[in-house]
Amino acid sequence: MANNPLRNIPSVNELLENPSLKNLVDKVSHHVVVSEVRTFLDTLRTDLQQKASELNVPTVGELADRIATWIVTDQKPTLQPVINATGILLHTGLGRSPLADEAIEEIEKVSRGYASVEVDLDSGQRSQRILAVEKLLRELTGAEAALVVNNNAGATLLALAALAKGKEVIVSRGQLVEIGGSYRLPEVMEVSGAILREVGTTNKTRIGDYENAIGEETGALLKVHPSNYVVTGFTSEASLPELVALGRQHDLPVIDDIGSGALVDFQQFGLAGEPIATESLAQGADVVLFSGDKLLGGPQCGIIVGKKELITKITKHPLTRALRVDKMTLASLAATLRLYRDPEVAGEAIPLLRLLGTSAENLKNRAERLAPRIAEMPAIATAEIVADHAYLGGGSVPSQQLPTWCIALTPNERSVDELAGELRTADRAIFGRIQQDRLLLDLRAVFPQEDMIILETLQSLPGKPALPNEGEATEAPASLSEETPA
Ligand SMILES: *Cc1c(COP(=O)(O)O)cnc(C)c1O
Repeated sequence: MANNPLRNIPSVNELLENPSLKNLVDKVSHHVVVSEVRTFLDTLRTDLQQKASELNVPTVGELADRIATWIVTDQKPTLQPVINATGILLHTGLGRSPLADEAIEEIEKVSRGYASVEVDLDSGQRSQRILAVEKLLRELTGAEAALVVNNNAGATLLALAALAKGKEVIVSRGQLVEIGGSYRLPEVMEVSGAILREVGTTNKTRIGDYENAIGEETGALLKVHPSNYVVTGFTSEASLPELVALGRQHDLPVIDDIGSGALVDFQQFGLAGEPIATESLAQGADVVLFSGDKLLGGPQCGIIVGKKELITKITKHPLTRALRVDKMTLASLAATLRLYRDPEVAGEAIPLLRLLGTSAENLKNRAERLAPRIAEMPAIATAEIVADHAYLGGGSVPSQQLPTWCIALTPNERSVDELAGELRTADRAIFGRIQQDRLLLDLRAVFPQEDMIILETLQSLPGKPALPNEGEATEAPASLSEETPA
């Protein structure tokens, strides 16, 4: 009992008298600092009780310094800008597509104060928020009507619930997609209340398979673009025109989930086979679904375009209200769509299209300029340029490969994983990809103005990384080191 470490824990006031925490009170706020100190001491107390008396309590000064460091780290937002040197352009973990300046300006304009989200400025009457983008979507896709919801998963859920609840929806077994783990078509279908009717096989589905499955219970025909895989070899799928003809014959709507949402032909970037919304509608699809933050290069949203009668039916479904988008999404989507009115303007102004349109030669030149400078830096042993392939999305297919150039780094005095960690946690986070014991910085998705930040960040790394808790006299409880106690 004599050396009960709990007794040695300083009081909140004692700690606040210390210079490191005193300074923080001025910089952050009294309220935040006091509450963080309390949380920290609570955790320390629990640790000491659990881990018994072998732990020593650090001095008041040490403790104050550690708490101050922890508060500063804790103040840093979890959501931060990142330099994407992974070579994956639509990286879901890194927020998919960057927005155009025009989109960001519109968000700012309508978000600072109030905005005409659901009022008609001429009449002063209540109106619908979709009008912010509907005309543009109709013009750019040729659709009769449009609706925008939170994302394409929401669009799929809503379209199925509104058009086929309690009915069978016929899908090819080759198209039962999973996108990024949490999205699986069969599960979304189940939640919507529609009944999945699989037809054909993984590699071959004929129009006759759909035809044989049609009956009293059928509510719709669904076609899904396999965005992240290809079935090759002995394969076939029913074409959209075939499905449309069959749908017409039986008075069934054809829903086409094209996924990536290209509004222009991506063949120009060497990307084959990406369906275009306009073409799908032109071939007769009744409802077309796609994401706003994939190939469209806009904000996260799900876009539904198609026949007026069906869009009206979908719009009236209660889920529409649950999945509705806010003014920021509408403003940035409208601004992005306006850029597409002139494809040349879109190619310049939409960051994703600009990244895709950059020549490999250009990337090579940049890599050649950066590599020798990086090779001189204390944290880096070697830096060489290598040609490689970049990809559209995480689970991308071979037809979505893009030529690219990377700077391959071997570190000094640390492992490749450690170097990658230092770059991720730098003031400006940088994500590369590790390949054969080297850290590759792929320039395909790096904006030219970020080259300088990469140089500065690498330059700031010491030749030898500081060991955590080096020279620490007292053993710290787990909560005192890396982990935040909350
Ligand atoms: C990406 C994708 C989805 C899911 O879209 P989110 O916008 O991520 O919700 C659904 N279907 C297909 C075919 C896709 O490619």
